[in-house]
Amino acid sequence: MSTEKTRFPRPPFDKQPQQFPGLASAMHPLPDHGEKSYQGHNRLTGKKALITGGDSGIGRAVAIAYAREGADVAINYLPAEESDAKEVIDLIKAEGRKAIAIPGDITDEAFCKTLVDKAVQELGGLDILVNNAGRQQFCESISELSTESFDATFKTNVYAPFWITRAAVAHLGEGAAIINTSSVQAFKPSDILLDYAQTKACNVAFTKALAKQLGPKGIRVNAVAPGPYWTALQVCGGQPQEKVAHFGEEAPLARPGQPVEIAPLYVTLASDENSFASGQVWCSDGGTGTA
Ligand code: NAD
Ligand code: MG
Repeated sequence: MSTEKTRFPRPPFDKQPQQFPGLASAMHPLPDHGEKSYQGHNRLTGKKALITGGDSGIGRAVAIAYAREGADVAINYLPAEESDAKEVIDLIKAEGRKAIAIPGDITDEAFCKTLVDKAVQELGGLDILVNNAGRQQFCESISELSTESFDATFKTNVYAPFWITRAAVAHLGEGAAIINTSSVQAFKPSDILLDYAQTKACNVAFTKALAKQLGPKGIRVNAVAPGPYWTALQVCGGQPQEKVAHFGEEAPLARPGQPVEIAPLYVTLASDENSFASGQVWCSDGGTGTA
Protein backbone atom coordinates (compact mmCIF):
# COMPACT_ATOMS: atom_id res chain seq x y z
CA MET A 1 0.00 0.00 0.00
CA SER A 2 1.29 3.47 -0.85
CA THR A 3 1.86 5.97 1.93
CA GLU A 4 2.44 9.73 1.97
CA LYS A 5 6.18 8.97 1.72
CA THR A 6 5.92 6.75 -1.38
CA ARG A 7 2.79 7.87 -3.22
CA PHE A 8 4.21 11.06 -4.69
CA PRO A 9 7.66 11.91 -6.10
CA ARG A 10 10.11 13.80 -3.91
CA PRO A 11 13.11 15.98 -4.82
CA PRO A 12 15.78 15.96 -6.09
CA PHE A 13 14.52 16.11 -9.68
CA ASP A 14 16.43 16.34 -12.97
CA LYS A 15 16.96 19.76 -14.46
CA GLN A 16 14.64 19.87 -17.49
CA PRO A 17 14.39 23.21 -19.27
CA GLN A 18 11.52 23.67 -21.72
CA GLN A 19 10.40 26.63 -23.82
CA PHE A 20 7.25 28.47 -22.63
CA PRO A 21 4.47 27.30 -22.45
CA GLY A 22 5.95 23.82 -21.90
CA LEU A 23 4.35 20.40 -22.17
CA ALA A 24 3.33 18.16 -19.27
CA SER A 25 4.13 15.14 -21.49
CA ALA A 26 7.81 16.16 -21.63
CA MET A 27 8.25 16.38 -17.84
CA HIS A 28 9.98 13.76 -15.76
CA PRO A 29 8.61 12.50 -13.53
CA LEU A 30 5.28 12.97 -15.34
CA PRO A 31 2.91 15.09 -13.24
CA ASP A 32 0.02 13.14 -11.71
CA HIS A 33 -3.22 14.81 -12.85
CA GLY A 34 -5.40 12.00 -11.51
CA GLU A 35 -5.60 10.22 -14.86
CA LYS A 36 -5.55 6.83 -13.12
CA SER A 37 -6.63 7.77 -9.60
CA TYR A 38 -9.32 10.47 -9.40
CA GLN A 39 -12.70 9.02 -8.44
CA GLY A 40 -15.84 11.08 -8.93
CA HIS A 41 -18.81 11.19 -6.56
CA ASN A 42 -21.47 12.90 -8.71
CA ARG A 43 -20.77 16.28 -7.15
CA LEU A 44 -21.15 18.22 -10.42
CA THR A 45 -23.74 16.18 -12.30
CA GLY A 46 -25.07 18.08 -15.32
CA LYS A 47 -22.93 21.19 -14.78
CA LYS A 48 -21.12 22.96 -17.62
CA ALA A 49 -17.61 24.24 -16.98
CA LEU A 50 -15.02 26.36 -18.79
CA ILE A 51 -11.42 25.92 -17.62
CA THR A 52 -8.56 28.05 -18.95
CA GLY A 53 -5.17 26.33 -19.08
CA GLY A 54 -7.03 23.01 -19.06
CA ASP A 55 -4.38 21.16 -21.07
CA SER A 56 -1.82 20.61 -18.32
CA GLY A 57 -1.03 20.95 -14.63
CA ILE A 58 -3.69 22.15 -12.23
CA GLY A 59 -6.19 22.93 -15.02
CA ARG A 60 -5.87 19.41 -16.45
CA ALA A 61 -6.41 17.84 -13.03
CA VAL A 62 -9.51 20.02 -12.57
CA ALA A 63 -10.81 19.06 -16.04
CA ILE A 64 -10.42 15.33 -15.32
CA ALA A 65 -12.03 15.68 -11.89
CA TYR A 66 -14.95 17.76 -13.20
CA ALA A 67 -15.67 15.21 -15.95
CA ARG A 68 -15.60 12.36 -13.42
CA GLU A 69 -17.94 14.36 -11.16
CA GLY A 70 -20.42 14.51 -14.04
CA ALA A 71 -19.73 17.87 -15.71
CA ASP A 72 -19.34 18.74 -19.39
CA VAL A 73 -16.06 20.60 -19.86
CA ALA A 74 -14.58 23.15 -22.28
CA ILE A 75 -10.85 23.79 -22.07
CA ASN A 76 -8.73 26.64 -23.41
CA TYR A 77 -4.97 26.47 -24.03
CA LEU A 78 -2.34 27.79 -26.41
CA PRO A 79 -2.12 26.19 -29.89
CA ALA A 80 1.44 24.99 -29.05
CA GLU A 81 -0.10 22.77 -26.36
CA GLU A 82 -2.38 20.81 -28.69
CA SER A 83 -0.79 17.43 -27.86
CA ASP A 84 -1.33 17.89 -24.09
CA ALA A 85 -4.88 19.15 -24.74
CA LYS A 86 -5.73 16.15 -26.93
CA GLU A 87 -4.97 13.81 -24.01
CA VAL A 88 -7.34 15.77 -21.77
CA ILE A 89 -10.12 15.84 -24.39
CA ASP A 90 -9.84 12.04 -24.74
CA LEU A 91 -10.01 11.58 -20.95
CA ILE A 92 -13.15 13.75 -20.67
CA LYS A 93 -14.81 11.88 -23.54
CA ALA A 94 -13.95 8.58 -21.87
CA GLU A 95 -16.27 9.66 -19.02
CA GLY A 96 -19.12 10.10 -21.51
CA ARG A 97 -19.06 13.88 -21.01
CA LYS A 98 -18.95 16.64 -23.63
CA ALA A 99 -15.35 17.80 -24.22
CA ILE A 100 -14.83 21.09 -26.05
CA ALA A 101 -11.35 22.23 -27.13
CA ILE A 102 -10.98 25.97 -27.70
CA PRO A 103 -7.33 26.87 -28.38
CA GLY A 104 -6.29 30.53 -28.44
CA ASP A 105 -4.30 33.28 -26.77
CA ILE A 106 -6.10 34.92 -23.84
CA THR A 107 -3.84 37.99 -23.90
CA ASP A 108 -6.10 39.04 -26.80
CA GLU A 109 -9.26 40.74 -25.50
CA ALA A 110 -11.35 39.86 -28.56
CA PHE A 111 -10.37 36.19 -28.26
CA CYS A 112 -11.49 36.12 -24.59
CA LYS A 113 -15.00 37.11 -25.68
CA THR A 114 -14.95 34.53 -28.50
CA LEU A 115 -13.76 31.88 -26.03
CA VAL A 116 -16.71 32.43 -23.70
CA ASP A 117 -19.21 32.66 -26.58
CA LYS A 118 -17.95 29.38 -28.07
CA ALA A 119 -17.94 27.60 -24.70
CA VAL A 120 -21.51 28.74 -23.95
CA GLN A 121 -22.72 27.78 -27.42
CA GLU A 122 -21.11 24.34 -27.49
CA LEU A 123 -21.83 23.43 -23.85
CA GLY A 124 -25.36 24.84 -24.04
CA GLY A 125 -24.79 27.24 -21.12
CA LEU A 126 -22.27 27.84 -18.34
CA ASP A 127 -22.32 27.07 -14.59
CA ILE A 128 -18.65 27.06 -13.63
CA LEU A 129 -15.78 29.30 -14.75
CA VAL A 130 -12.25 28.36 -13.69
CA ASN A 131 -9.72 31.11 -14.41
CA ASN A 132 -6.56 29.05 -14.21
CA ALA A 133 -4.23 29.93 -17.12
CA GLY A 134 -1.13 31.72 -15.96
CA ARG A 135 2.28 33.06 -16.94
CA GLN A 136 5.28 32.91 -14.58
CA GLN A 137 8.76 33.82 -15.81
CA PHE A 138 11.38 34.42 -13.13
CA CYS A 139 13.69 37.44 -13.31
CA GLU A 140 16.52 38.06 -10.84
CA SER A 141 16.49 41.86 -10.93
CA ILE A 142 14.01 44.68 -11.42
CA SER A 143 16.66 46.27 -13.66
CA GLU A 144 16.32 43.36 -16.10
CA LEU A 145 12.54 42.98 -15.99
CA SER A 146 11.38 44.24 -19.38
CA THR A 147 8.15 46.13 -19.92
CA GLU A 148 7.18 43.47 -22.47
CA SER A 149 7.55 40.66 -19.96
CA PHE A 150 5.82 42.61 -17.18
CA ASP A 151 2.98 43.39 -19.60
CA ALA A 152 2.62 39.77 -20.77
CA THR A 153 2.39 38.57 -17.16
CA PHE A 154 -0.29 41.13 -16.32
CA LYS A 155 -2.20 40.49 -19.57
CA THR A 156 -2.30 36.74 -18.91
CA ASN A 157 -2.88 36.73 -15.15
CA VAL A 158 -4.93 39.90 -14.54
CA TYR A 159 -6.49 41.26 -17.74
CA ALA A 160 -7.52 37.88 -19.20
CA PRO A 161 -9.47 36.72 -16.10
CA PHE A 162 -11.18 40.14 -16.12
CA TRP A 163 -12.07 39.91 -19.83
CA ILE A 164 -13.20 36.28 -19.59
CA THR A 165 -15.21 36.78 -16.41
CA ARG A 166 -16.89 39.93 -17.76
CA ALA A 167 -18.01 37.98 -20.82
CA ALA A 168 -19.08 34.97 -18.74
CA VAL A 169 -21.15 36.80 -16.12
CA ALA A 170 -23.90 37.48 -18.67
CA HIS A 171 -24.40 33.69 -18.93
CA LEU A 172 -24.11 32.70 -15.25
CA GLY A 173 -27.23 32.15 -13.20
CA GLU A 174 -28.01 31.54 -9.54
CA GLY A 175 -25.84 28.73 -8.15
CA ALA A 176 -23.00 29.38 -10.59
CA ALA A 177 -19.41 29.47 -9.37
CA ILE A 178 -16.28 31.33 -10.43
CA ILE A 179 -12.94 30.00 -9.22
CA ASN A 180 -9.77 32.01 -9.74
CA THR A 181 -6.25 30.64 -9.38
CA SER A 182 -4.07 32.87 -7.22
CA SER A 183 -0.88 31.66 -5.48
CA VAL A 184 0.98 31.68 -2.19
CA GLN A 185 3.02 34.33 -4.03
CA ALA A 186 0.18 36.78 -3.28
CA PHE A 187 1.07 36.53 0.42
CA LYS A 188 4.77 35.60 0.49
CA PRO A 189 6.28 36.95 -2.72
CA SER A 190 9.64 35.61 -3.93
CA ASP A 191 12.32 38.13 -4.89
CA ILE A 192 12.57 36.66 -8.40
CA LEU A 193 8.81 36.77 -9.09
CA LEU A 194 8.24 40.52 -8.75
CA ASP A 195 5.69 40.84 -11.54
CA TYR A 196 4.03 37.44 -11.09
CA ALA A 197 3.52 37.90 -7.33
CA GLN A 198 1.76 41.22 -7.95
CA THR A 199 -0.63 39.62 -10.42
CA LYS A 200 -1.48 36.88 -7.93
CA ALA A 201 -2.28 39.53 -5.30
CA CYS A 202 -4.55 41.14 -7.91
CA ASN A 203 -6.38 37.81 -8.24
CA VAL A 204 -7.14 37.91 -4.49
CA ALA A 205 -8.59 41.44 -4.56
CA PHE A 206 -10.54 40.62 -7.75
CA THR A 207 -12.03 37.55 -6.05
CA LYS A 208 -13.07 39.40 -2.89
CA ALA A 209 -14.57 42.40 -4.69
CA LEU A 210 -16.39 40.29 -7.28
CA ALA A 211 -17.84 38.00 -4.60
CA LYS A 212 -19.49 41.08 -3.08
CA GLN A 213 -20.76 42.23 -6.47
CA LEU A 214 -22.18 38.86 -7.56
CA GLY A 215 -23.40 37.53 -4.20
CA PRO A 216 -26.82 39.13 -4.59
CA LYS A 217 -27.20 37.18 -7.86
CA GLY A 218 -26.44 33.91 -6.07
CA ILE A 219 -23.08 33.53 -7.81
CA ARG A 220 -20.12 32.50 -5.66
CA VAL A 221 -16.54 33.64 -6.33
CA ASN A 222 -13.52 32.02 -4.66
CA ALA A 223 -9.80 31.71 -5.30
CA VAL A 224 -7.43 28.81 -4.83
CA ALA A 225 -3.86 29.64 -3.79
CA PRO A 226 -1.52 26.77 -4.64
CA GLY A 227 1.93 26.40 -3.10
CA PRO A 228 4.58 24.49 -5.05
CA TYR A 229 2.92 22.18 -7.60
CA TRP A 230 4.79 20.00 -10.09
CA THR A 231 3.71 21.50 -13.43
CA ALA A 232 5.09 22.72 -16.77
CA LEU A 233 4.84 26.33 -15.57
CA GLN A 234 7.78 25.78 -13.22
CA VAL A 235 10.16 24.10 -15.68
CA CYS A 236 9.65 26.48 -18.64
CA GLY A 237 11.04 29.61 -16.99
CA GLY A 238 8.93 29.77 -13.83
CA GLN A 239 11.99 28.88 -11.72
CA PRO A 240 15.74 28.68 -12.33
CA GLN A 241 16.68 25.06 -13.11
CA GLU A 242 18.63 24.73 -9.82
CA LYS A 243 15.35 25.43 -8.02
CA VAL A 244 13.47 22.96 -10.24
CA ALA A 245 15.90 20.27 -9.02
CA HIS A 246 14.88 20.95 -5.40
CA PHE A 247 11.30 22.00 -6.08
CA GLY A 248 9.00 21.60 -3.07
CA GLU A 249 11.82 20.69 -0.68
CA GLU A 250 11.07 23.62 1.63
CA ALA A 251 7.43 22.64 2.20
CA PRO A 252 6.82 20.80 5.50
CA LEU A 253 5.72 17.79 3.42
CA ALA A 254 9.17 18.07 1.75
CA ARG A 255 7.92 17.66 -1.82
CA PRO A 256 5.85 19.48 -4.44
CA GLY A 257 2.15 18.82 -4.70
CA GLN A 258 0.91 16.86 -7.72
CA PRO A 259 -1.98 18.47 -9.64
CA VAL A 260 -4.40 15.69 -8.62
CA GLU A 261 -3.99 16.79 -5.00
CA ILE A 262 -5.53 20.22 -5.57
CA ALA A 263 -8.42 19.17 -7.85
CA PRO A 264 -10.72 18.38 -4.87
CA LEU A 265 -10.61 22.04 -3.77
CA TYR A 266 -11.84 23.16 -7.20
CA VAL A 267 -14.54 20.47 -7.08
CA THR A 268 -15.90 21.49 -3.70
CA LEU A 269 -15.83 25.20 -4.55
CA ALA A 270 -17.85 24.49 -7.71
CA SER A 271 -20.34 22.12 -6.11
CA ASP A 272 -23.76 23.03 -4.73
CA GLU A 273 -22.68 21.51 -1.40
CA ASN A 274 -20.34 24.41 -0.64
CA SER A 275 -23.14 26.92 -1.13
CA PHE A 276 -22.18 29.49 1.56
CA ALA A 277 -18.45 29.78 0.77
CA SER A 278 -17.64 32.87 -1.28
CA GLY A 279 -15.03 35.63 -1.38
CA GLN A 280 -12.35 33.38 0.09
CA VAL A 281 -8.87 32.20 -0.77
CA TRP A 282 -8.25 28.48 -0.25
CA CYS A 283 -4.62 27.54 0.13
CA SER A 284 -2.95 24.19 -0.62
CA ASP A 285 0.78 24.46 0.01
CA GLY A 286 2.06 21.33 1.71
CA GLY A 287 1.98 22.67 5.25
CA THR A 288 3.50 26.14 5.18
CA GLY A 289 0.22 27.71 6.28
CA THR A 290 0.54 30.68 3.98
CA ALA A 291 -2.84 32.32 3.46
P1 NAD B 1 0.67 24.89 -16.49
O1 NAD B 1 1.77 25.44 -17.29
O2 NAD B 1 0.42 23.43 -16.60
O3 NAD B 1 -0.69 25.64 -16.80
C1 NAD B 1 -0.73 27.00 -17.15
C2 NAD B 1 -1.52 27.12 -18.44
O4 NAD B 1 -1.72 28.51 -18.74
C3 NAD B 1 -0.81 26.56 -19.66
O5 NAD B 1 -1.08 25.20 -19.82
C4 NAD B 1 -1.40 27.40 -20.79
O6 NAD B 1 -2.40 26.67 -21.46
C5 NAD B 1 -2.05 28.56 -20.09
N1 NAD B 1 -1.62 29.84 -20.68
C6 NAD B 1 -0.52 30.57 -20.39
N2 NAD B 1 -0.49 31.67 -21.17
C7 NAD B 1 -1.60 31.63 -21.95
C8 NAD B 1 -2.12 32.47 -22.96
N3 NAD B 1 -1.51 33.62 -23.31
N4 NAD B 1 -3.28 32.09 -23.56
C9 NAD B 1 -3.91 30.94 -23.23
N5 NAD B 1 -3.46 30.11 -22.27
C10 NAD B 1 -2.32 30.46 -21.65
O7 NAD B 1 0.98 25.30 -14.98
P2 NAD B 1 0.09 25.29 -13.63
O8 NAD B 1 1.08 25.37 -12.55
O9 NAD B 1 -0.89 24.21 -13.65
O10 NAD B 1 -0.63 26.69 -13.70
C11 NAD B 1 -2.01 26.87 -13.45
C12 NAD B 1 -2.23 28.05 -12.54
O11 NAD B 1 -1.71 27.75 -11.25
C13 NAD B 1 -1.54 29.35 -12.97
O12 NAD B 1 -2.44 30.43 -12.80
C14 NAD B 1 -0.41 29.48 -11.99
O13 NAD B 1 -0.04 30.82 -11.79
C15 NAD B 1 -1.03 28.87 -10.76
N6 NAD B 1 -0.07 28.44 -9.73
C16 NAD B 1 0.78 27.41 -9.96
C17 NAD B 1 1.67 27.04 -8.96
C18 NAD B 1 2.64 25.90 -9.15
O14 NAD B 1 3.51 25.71 -8.30
N7 NAD B 1 2.57 25.15 -10.23
C19 NAD B 1 1.68 27.70 -7.73
C20 NAD B 1 0.78 28.74 -7.53
C21 NAD B 1 -0.10 29.10 -8.54
MG1 MG C 1 0.12 23.64 -20.62
